[in-house]
Amino acid sequence: MANIWKGAPVVEGINARVSAQVEVLGKQGILPTLAIIRVGERPDDLSYERGAMKRCEKLGVQVRQFVLPQDAPHGDLMAVISQVNADPGIHGCLLLRPLPPQMDEEEARRALLPEKDVDGITDGSLAGVFTSTGEGYPPCTAQACLEILDHYGYALQGKRAVVVGRSLVVGKPVSMLLLARHATVTICHTRTQDLPAICRQAEVLVAAAGKPEMITREYLSPGQVVLDVGIHVNAEGKLCGDVNLEDAQSVVEAVTPVPGGVGTVTTSVLAAQVVAAAGKAAK
Ligand code: NAP
Repeated sequence: MANIWKGAPVVEGINARVSAQVEVLGKQGILPTLAIIRVGERPDDLSYERGAMKRCEKLGVQVRQFVLPQDAPHGDLMAVISQVNADPGIHGCLLLRPLPPQMDEEEARRALLPEKDVDGITDGSLAGVFTSTGEGYPPCTAQACLEILDHYGYALQGKRAVVVGRSLVVGKPVSMLLLARHATVTICHTRTQDLPAICRQAEVLVAAAGKPEMITREYLSPGQVVLDVGIHVNAEGKLCGDVNLEDAQSVVEAVTPVPGGVGTVTTSVLAAQVVAAAGKAAK
C-alpha cells in the first residue's frame, strides 16, 4: 500500500518558515503585501482568491484586492497593473486568469514587473526558472511540487522524472525545477508515443495533463513517487486528480492525494513568495 503524501504537513513547514520571516520583516516596519487583481466573478477565481486570502491573513501577509467588472476595457486593467507596479507598499501580485476576451492577456502578463510576479506569469519569471536565477518567481503550483518532494525527504539527483503536460503554468516550469535539482527529465504531451511505457519508467511521475484519472495502473510501476497536479470534479461530483488514486495506492511507493495534496500547498507557496519579494524589496 502506497504512502499518501498529504499536503498538510508540507503547508505546516512552509507556514512556520514564512511566519518567522514575517516577524523579522515586521521589526523592520515592513508589512508583506499581495495585490490580487480579478476581472469579473468567475467561481474558480473567487474560490482561489478566498483560499489565498485566508492563507495570507493567517501568516500576516496583507492582501489588497483590485476588482474590475467582467466588461471592463483592457485599458482599465493596464491602469491597475501600472498602479500595482508603482506602489512600493505592494510586494507581490496575483493576476487571476483567464481574462475576458476584450482583454489582451499577453500584454497584461508582460506589463507586470517580474520582481512583483509571485505566480510566475511574466517572461522575466519564466526566464528565471530556466536559468535558476532572476528577479521573478516560479509558478506556485510548480514550486509546490518541489516543496512536497523536499518535505518528504526525496532526493532528486540522478532520478528519472517524467512530467505529463507541457503548459507554461505547470508542465514546463516543474520540468525545469526538477532539472535544476539534477533529475533526468522527460516531458510528455498529447503527441507522445506510448505514454504508459514512458510513465512506467519514471521514478518520479508528475501528472499535469488536466485529464481526470487518466493515469491508471498501466502507467504506474512499483517504487514510484507520483505527484498529482490535476484538479477535477468527477461524474459523482467528487474532487479527483489526473491519477486514479486507487490504482496508484496499490502499485506505487508514494502518491499525493486529490483533494489534500498539491493544491493545498499552492497558496502557502504564494504567501512565501510574497514574503520573499518583500524581503528583496527591503534590501
Ligand atoms: P493545460 O494548459 O490544459 O495543459 C495540459 C497539458 O497536458 C498539455 O501540455 C497537453 O499536451 C497535455 N495533455 C493533455 N492530455 C494529454 C494526454 N492524454 N496525454 C498526454 N498529455 C496530455 O493544463 P494546465 O493548466 O497545465 O493544468 C493541468 C492540470 O493541473 C489541470 O487539471 C489543472 O486544473 C491543474 N492545476 C492545478 C493547480 C494546483 O494548484 N493544484 C494549479 C494549476 C493547474 P499538449 O501540449 O500536446 O496539448
